[in-house]
Amino acid sequence: MSGIVIIGAGECGTRAAFALREAGYSGSVVLVGAEPHLPYERPPLSKPASDAVRMKLICAKDGLADAGIDYLKGVSASKLDADAGTVTLSDGRVLAYQKLLLATGARPRRLACPGAERALDFRTHGDAEAIFSRAGVARSTAVIGGGLIGMELASVLRGEGIAVSVIEAAPKTLGRAVPARFAEKLHARHIEEGVDFHLGRGVAAITDDGVILTDGSMVQAQLVISAIGVMPEITLAQDAGLATGNGILTDTHLRTSAANIFAAGDCAAVSQTDGGHIRFESWRNARAQAETAARTMIGSLEPFTAIPWFWSDQYDLSLQVVGLPQPAHQSVVRPLGDGELEFYLDAGRLVAAAGLGIGNAVAKDIKLAEMLIAAGVRPDTAALANANLNLKALLKSARAA
Ligand code: FAD
Ligand code: NAP
Repeated sequence: MSGIVIIGAGECGTRAAFALREAGYSGSVVLVGAEPHLPYERPPLSKPASDAVRMKLICAKDGLADAGIDYLKGVSASKLDADAGTVTLSDGRVLAYQKLLLATGARPRRLACPGAERALDFRTHGDAEAIFSRAGVARSTAVIGGGLIGMELASVLRGEGIAVSVIEAAPKTLGRAVPARFAEKLHARHIEEGVDFHLGRGVAAITDDGVILTDGSMVQAQLVISAIGVMPEITLAQDAGLATGNGILTDTHLRTSAANIFAAGDCAAVSQTDGGHIRFESWRNARAQAETAARTMIGSLEPFTAIPWFWSDQYDLSLQVVGLPQPAHQSVVRPLGDGELEFYLDAGRLVAAAGLGIGNAVAKDIKLAEMLIAAGVRPDTAALANANLNLKALLKSARAA
């Protein structure tokens, strides 16, 4: 019996399968996952609490069975026929679908220099096990890429006393998603912790001794990890003739260019009301889009409107960012006991906020900032900057107004 087939059993695909049941869908749900495990979360991989890599499952085997989700583990979809409404699997099976969700995520971008195969990627549980089991023995590591993975990994390795060099092509680390104020603070903390940075230089080659940079200098390392970003996994969609770009293109309801096929999570580039498509690479986005896609698939046509949010843990510091801060926004800084918040305004309207602090210091305020953003407030900047005026009161008065 054909029903809903989901390709990809990561955060997005798995959440979508459960969301279908929560929304009352009683037809068949088949979840196809290429990895040889039960669905698990990726964020804990780069934040191991001890020296062991944790596998935090998204759901237990019984949970899948109880929800009537048919999970095909360690099987990948190799061909999609959008006209026939079928998907061919790596084990030869052909699944017919009424609705199909592509939740194929992303894969690590690969270096193209000589010796690139010596660098380990960091995306899966298997990658994490390979990195952490070798890092302890190697004692000196080079991380290529000073983005979120590179910097989280550097903090974990330094926590274990392992020498870390970070090589970043851009002149600054964390330049893509993290507001400059907090990227600089995190960078400074890494320097305090003894991370050796090589900025503004690319990688010419990787050898048994380490990494040769484009200026000819050598970074000695017994273990090299590549963390230079990801590419959306769009092959299946592309080969089937679906519209793609920097991701599988969807409308605001997460419908692709082909009838009855939807896309969500890291692989999906979603149409924006002001033109263009945006693709996010974060845990909460994967879950939120999964929920919208599930409801759209069973007929409730709602646009995807969630406000972007992500976090990153480095040493004892936790960063949270809500909305999309831009350098052109007006910035308002609010000090906190154990951290700092920065608010971003566009023509007087609060559109984003970020915070960096010890442990959970900024979590409550970022949650309130998210509610203020959703309420569309135009706050008084002096009130925003004043740590004695709590954000709850601001929200209350905004709602009353
Ligand atoms: P994925 O997690 O990539 O899952 C897609 C799945 O589909 C994969 O299992 C893949 O094997 C499978 N697949 C692909 N093609 C096929 C096919 N043809 N057939 C069958 N299966 C297929 N985000 C945050 O917000 N905060 C964090 O702190 C954070 N930490 C992270 C740490 C690490 C180490 C990594 C790698 C990511 C982190 N992220 C974090 C990002 C977050 O985990 C991702 O945005 C999220 O996992 C995306 O979910 P997804 O389901 O869209 O894609
Ligand atoms: P990323 O955040 O895109 O960072 C990659 C970094 O590598 C960028 O600074 C990039 O610079 C740099 N780079 C690219 N090519 C390079 C080269 N040849 N040599 C040196 N540096 C190079 O990606 P990531 O850190 O690899 O993370 C991968 C995925 O995991 C992303 O989807 C990320 O969002 C997700 N993740 C999220 C979190 C979180 O939210 N806390 C944590 C971990 C991972 P340019 O920008 O100039 O290209």
